[in-house]
Amino acid sequence: MTFPVVGIVGGGQLARMTHEAGIPLGIRFKVLSDTPQDSAAQVVSDVTVGDYRDLETLRSFAAGCDVITFDHEHVPTEHLRALEADGITVRPGPDALVHAQDKGVMRARLAEIGAPCPRNRIVASPADVAAFAAETGGFPVVLKTVRGGYDGKGVWIARSAADAEEPFRAGVPVLAEEKVDFVRELAANVVRSPHGQAVAYPVVESLQVDGVCDTVVAPAPGLSDQLSAQAQGLALTIAGELGVVGHLAVELFETADGRILVNELAMRPHNSGHWTMDGAVTSQFANHLRAVLNLPLGDPRPRARWTVMANVLGGDYPDMYAGYLHCMARDPGLKIHMYGKDVKPGRKVGHVNTYGDDLADVRERARHAADYLRGTIDE
Ligand code: ADP
Repeated sequence: MTFPVVGIVGGGQLARMTHEAGIPLGIRFKVLSDTPQDSAAQVVSDVTVGDYRDLETLRSFAAGCDVITFDHEHVPTEHLRALEADGITVRPGPDALVHAQDKGVMRARLAEIGAPCPRNRIVASPADVAAFAAETGGFPVVLKTVRGGYDGKGVWIARSAADAEEPFRAGVPVLAEEKVDFVRELAANVVRSPHGQAVAYPVVESLQVDGVCDTVVAPAPGLSDQLSAQAQGLALTIAGELGVVGHLAVELFETADGRILVNELAMRPHNSGHWTMDGAVTSQFANHLRAVLNLPLGDPRPRARWTVMANVLGGDYPDMYAGYLHCMARDPGLKIHMYGKDVKPGRKVGHVNTYGDDLADVRERARHAADYLRGTIDE
């Protein structure tokens, strides 16, 4: 038995950090990347540059791998079925992954298993949207393309039928959802292995700005034990029912009357789990790897009372390294994770983690470092 080769489709930061988690275990990696400059392609020694939408490219990439896993969810489901038919191990498999690829499939399946969701329906025209609005309390209505959205792209808020034309232009199916009046967004992150073992991380609060994750607080402040257990139980049920292997993020809305509703699913390490790199005994990346290799999972418990993750977005200021001197001198407990990406306005180029006993202090330190690195503050 030699060390296994994990093939990761997609060369983004999630692949880069999964590779990082595999180094101490001696796991070997291959990455299928769009360009040689992608985040993971810079650090993984065995890189294939190619198009994940091309089945033959996927086939030759997969040939040297013991298991295939993902940095993103965009590989066509039928290609993954073809790889499995070739005898390739794909984790999570296509029958699970389709629920993270297609919001229509996801909503239908969640309804079957009784998971609480916003009211929703596939719609074909602005008139359909108006009918949906009439049945669900009126406009605004949230419209989503069923496939291909990320970071708020592919999501529209329609305030009237006339306002609902845009999502139909692409010619792909559109899902209408009631607009949930949520008090905050939460995420329940779990990891499940083929063996059937599963672990649940503490439920976190996630703050989105302009559709992009900005800050995550672990555990979610003020969340009742009852709602926290309900969210973890829901995520474990979804992982089991859908046959997920690896990390599953269940993005949730918390409502003013104390309910949780599922927003969406991600079947890979997720931004809401980046805090675990420094704040949990076993990170989401390490546990995702263990799961796809069918190894026993690691302890998901937090190491500190509070951990805060703040994303570092690109600003107008291209030199992120220039901020290290100040940030490291100001806060020796700060953990910086940079992805090797060129700075472009609004692009996720890294994140910072802070932890400790005083939430206000832990938040301030993370916010300060993220803003300083971005260049929006200079002291
Ligand atoms: P993406 O694929 O970009 O992650 P999401 O489905 O998570 O798309 O939607 C992006 C954001 O839009 C969510 O984080 C939330 O803030 C808002 N949103 C999505 N669905 C609803 C909804 N039904 N009601 C209210 N806000 C929503």
